[in-house]
Amino acid sequence: MAEEKIVTFEMMMQKILNGEKQYDFTKIQTAYSFAEEAHKGQFRSSGQPYIIHPVAVADILLDLGMDTDTICAALLHDVVEDTPVTYEQVKKLFGRDVADLVDGVTKLKKIPIFNRDQQKAKDICKILIAMKDDIRVIMIKLCDRLHNMRTLQYRPDEKQQATAYETMNIYAPIAGRLGIERLHEELEDLSFYYLDPYAYADIVKLLSADKKEREAFISAIKTRIRERLALHVSKFEKTPQVEGRAKSIYGMYKKLYVKHKDFSEIYDKYAVRVIVSTKDECYTVLGIIHDMFRPIPNRFKDYIQSPKENNYRSLHTSVIGEEGIPFEVQIRTREMHRDAEYGIAAHWKYKEGVHGKDHLDSRLNWVREALEAQQTSDDVEEIVRIIKNEVSPESVVVVLTPRGDTISLPSGATPIDFAYKIHTQVGHKAMGAKVNNRIVPLDYELQTGQICDILLSKEEKGPNRAWLEIAKTTGAKSKIRLWFKKERREENIETGKAMLEKEFQRCRIHIPEKDYGKFLEDDLKRHNCNTLEDFYASIGYGGVSIQRFVPRWKDLYHKLYCQDEEPKAKRPVVQPVSKQKSRIVLDEIKNCAYKFSQCCNPLPGDDIVGFVTRGGHGISVHTVSCVNYRSVLKRNNPEELERWFDIQWTDHQETAMQTSIEIIALDRIGLMFDITAILTEARIPIVHSSSRNLKNGNAIIDICLMRSLIHN
Ligand code: MN
Repeated sequence: MAEEKIVTFEMMMQKILNGEKQYDFTKIQTAYSFAEEAHKGQFRSSGQPYIIHPVAVADILLDLGMDTDTICAALLHDVVEDTPVTYEQVKKLFGRDVADLVDGVTKLKKIPIFNRDQQKAKDICKILIAMKDDIRVIMIKLCDRLHNMRTLQYRPDEKQQATAYETMNIYAPIAGRLGIERLHEELEDLSFYYLDPYAYADIVKLLSADKKEREAFISAIKTRIRERLALHVSKFEKTPQVEGRAKSIYGMYKKLYVKHKDFSEIYDKYAVRVIVSTKDECYTVLGIIHDMFRPIPNRFKDYIQSPKENNYRSLHTSVIGEEGIPFEVQIRTREMHRDAEYGIAAHWKYKEGVHGKDHLDSRLNWVREALEAQQTSDDVEEIVRIIKNEVSPESVVVVLTPRGDTISLPSGATPIDFAYKIHTQVGHKAMGAKVNNRIVPLDYELQTGQICDILLSKEEKGPNRAWLEIAKTTGAKSKIRLWFKKERREENIETGKAMLEKEFQRCRIHIPEKDYGKFLEDDLKRHNCNTLEDFYASIGYGGVSIQRFVPRWKDLYHKLYCQDEEPKAKRPVVQPVSKQKSRIVLDEIKNCAYKFSQCCNPLPGDDIVGFVTRGGHGISVHTVSCVNYRSVLKRNNPEELERWFDIQWTDHQETAMQTSIEIIALDRIGLMFDITAILTEARIPIVHSSSRNLKNGNAIIDICLMRSLIHN
């Protein structure tokens, strides 16, 4: 990672002076002095004075062209949280707008950082709601995160992982959705560096290996295109700009590892961009390019006629020159270009900006969709999926309406998805569909180029439950669910109850109906249902999927109803002796339920602590260096501390546990066999393993082992 370049306030002010955009100089100066005073004596993990962070964040926002209030709020974004300064003070000095922005960012900071195990749909939605209220809040948050990612090397390891994970899954996709490509790519690349350092190094190496040739090739192509365009000078308002374009490291990774392409198959590894004045000129350039080089079939994409969902517009074509090297050409107007670079920020940089409450930007439609989906389902993965919008251009089908409008859908989409994408009411009234004038079933798989006509009933007859299985898009699914939720409560209750009882039967859970309320008490609370009927209704319309509860229900059922067969595990009664914590030896709690926590995976020999879990699930074992334990110590709340005890390993444990190791080795035939042989010899059972080849001739092998605790 490159060393962080520190931006001073003076440098930032100079940039404002040199720029064209007007700023309230005094207000920004005052905000800076105020923040500097407030953060006096505070330091970043890097050891530098704290104020460099808000200045860096403000500077990134300045580059995006954001307004005076956003810059001031960025300078002040940490004062309310980390210093005695209050909202009222900020409001009095800088006005309500700035104070509200600072407040918005402060609220976002209170949301716990997500990691693999604990993401909450509700928390993610808080971020989306903040965006809906004033998009500038999320712009500050994105730049705050970008600077934190740039300086992440100073943070402890576990913090790095969690922050990188959250950035990759929430903030980078949001930046992408807002069309701010420069933020999007940098956030992705930085997260990727921390999440998979080996793959990162691998790709950097791959890219630097042919850097010289690549640069020479691109530069030759650029010259040829420029020369040819010069012959058509009369066709252009201004001389077209021709530039080279570098692909991001993570973008390369996705092609190589996620789509399993070979390095030589990546056409846009070499890319040239032509920027012109008008839309017509784009097509003129396209014609010229296709005349100069041979176009590769099926590699032309017209994102001007069918913009991407984040409003990205451009023509993309892959061609192949005499040298036999394929490359990509992107053609766009200046306006499309700055929209692609700055996304929603272009509103501020080139226009007068948007106010949070206006929904004039189609780039924000998905926010509403995600929030709607959260209303009808509490599935975290679904929310993350919507945010990440995991459809790659290759897996999109573009279908036409009878009027010739284009609708982009993920491949596999059906007329139901098409209908709901046009309008909710079109979906609710759909009776059948015609594709290219022939009647097709509703589960028909649409293909690019087809014309789809939805046959409507006169009145809204509503969707069919079976459609939930047919629809491929989250949008259609959540609209269908929402309809059932609103329109068919009685029916939902009945269906939901039947589904629940069927599941109980399948799992051999036999409880009298009068006990349902008590048995499901936790689930009701978790899903904000006041009554059993509400809960049945949620199951009925598909908002709550019960399969996920089964393991917990089984446990609960055994605990409550099967005591006779299985003696209940005894929980140790531990009495803290005055100030001194009692030491439990793991051995003594052998007959008590305990588990090794997922957050820190303690291994024999680690210093460990035990936590008496709430709800009597026994003891969970953590390492003393575990983040969760650390934060408990930090909070120093006596009630909380009471649940934590020192424990030790014993020398003779028969229990086994799982642990994962990663092996990087020179790839060769028989490698897996040799590793397996060594593990077998050591009598270590393998739970599962996976491997993949790296491009540098190495292989990464992940092995999950049953780690026997017999040692010493
Ligand atoms: Mn900050």
